[in-house]
Amino acid sequence: MHRERVSENVFWFQSEVYAQVTAGVVAGPQWAVVVDTLALPDETIGMREFIEHELGVPVRYVINTHYHADHAWGNCFFPGATVIAHSRCRELLEERGMPSLDAARKQNPALRQVKIVLPHITFISGEMTLRVGKKNLIIIPALGHSADGISVLVEEDRILFAGDAFMPLPYVVDGDVEEIAASIKKIGRMGLENIIQGHGDIILRGEIDAAVKENLAYLTAIRKAARIAARRRSPEEYLETVKIEQCGKSRVYLGGLAEGLHQRNMRALVAQMQAEPGEK
Ligand SMILES: [Zn+2]
Repeated sequence: MHRERVSENVFWFQSEVYAQVTAGVVAGPQWAVVVDTLALPDETIGMREFIEHELGVPVRYVINTHYHADHAWGNCFFPGATVIAHSRCRELLEERGMPSLDAARKQNPALRQVKIVLPHITFISGEMTLRVGKKNLIIIPALGHSADGISVLVEEDRILFAGDAFMPLPYVVDGDVEEIAASIKKIGRMGLENIIQGHGDIILRGEIDAAVKENLAYLTAIRKAARIAARRRSPEEYLETVKIEQCGKSRVYLGGLAEGLHQRNMRALVAQMQAEPGEK
């Protein structure tokens, strides 16, 4: 697991085992807030040990940016912490997370110790502020990757934990392409020092404009490809010819998973277009 200090009392963690997924911690004098848990128990426990032993504080709150396994299944490793999320996150963890954990356990023995802990405090719209030490954490909706996405702004430092609304490759299979484009544009206008993406590396101030443009151009490119594919007799065959590089992205992103995710993005858009011929 990689670890970096992003600013005073703000730390970032990145998985070395699953899709470069990230998590963060903001520590105060008495307790800390964790933003997302990692994919596998060992890394989540490693993060907790760093907080308890190196920073010397317990974790009082865990914020889940959305319900996906790689961000929310580690809640159980912070017993006693209060979990905060979007209301929809609580519903989705219950409806989808619990059955998929049962299935995943059979495949992966490492998940046997995982238990889904549902969020205790939830909100639907607007924003919520949590004060930790000298910092305000402002929790805001950030939809598009999923229907329950939130981001966490460390107000004083202008650091945004974006969740998967911002990734090296936008991923919309469980989300909505219009909503993620709106979230990416909004993030680009926030005047940030750093974007902490849900996966991949930290984006620095000078790189933000280019990253926003690249992501929006990618979404435009896959929508165009999906429109063409939807008119073909065999959409799949056409999509296989639309490589990630043609859409302005690199296959080395996300530990090599990018091309597969790119193909799934386009297939999901075609399916949506065929379901609602009004076009996206
Ligand atoms: Zn993720």
